[in-house]
Amino acid sequence: MDSGANHGRFDAKWRGVVTAPDGRRALNQRKQPKKTVAGQPGFMTMMGRALTKGCPVCAKRQQFSRWMTMDEDCERCGLHFERIEGHWIGAIGMNTIVSFGILALFMIGGWVLTFPDFPLSVLIVSVVVSILVPVVFYPFSKTTWTAIDIAMRPLEAHEVNWAALDSSKNPPSESTSNDV
Ligand SMILES: [Zn+2]
Repeated sequence: MDSGANHGRFDAKWRGVVTAPDGRRALNQRKQPKKTVAGQPGFMTMMGRALTKGCPVCAKRQQFSRWMTMDEDCERCGLHFERIEGHWIGAIGMNTIVSFGILALFMIGGWVLTFPDFPLSVLIVSVVVSILVPVVFYPFSKTTWTAIDIAMRPLEAHEVNWAALDSSKNPPSESTSNDV
């Protein structure tokens, strides 16, 4: 009997947790339509800038003090590149996928071209590729991931100093994005 009463109390407590006001608010926030900043560049524009190691938002180059060291903020538009904690995990993931993809191409290509032998040179080239590609692609992984992240999770008005950009092209108003 005691256990039944305890069970009832547990249920009541559990229901309280499930229907907590905070929980409802969190669910409602997720359902709200996404708002984007009207001046946010389109995805292809941002990717083009990112592939030249530029800021996806304002195209400013030289965001790296060294090959591997990216500035924290864009000098021109003020975008903080690490938009949220854990932002760079996506860049590491991209770098891993690209590096393994290129390594696989080299290994499969080498295997096909030299079949049925598999000379040591193919192995050496593969090792060199597996070391060089992640380093070479590293800065691009950061800029391209930032572009992809902005496309998926649009800029909020406060993230960029729109006044520093062309105000006619980049009004700080919010509207539904029609960028392609
Ligand atoms: Zn910028």
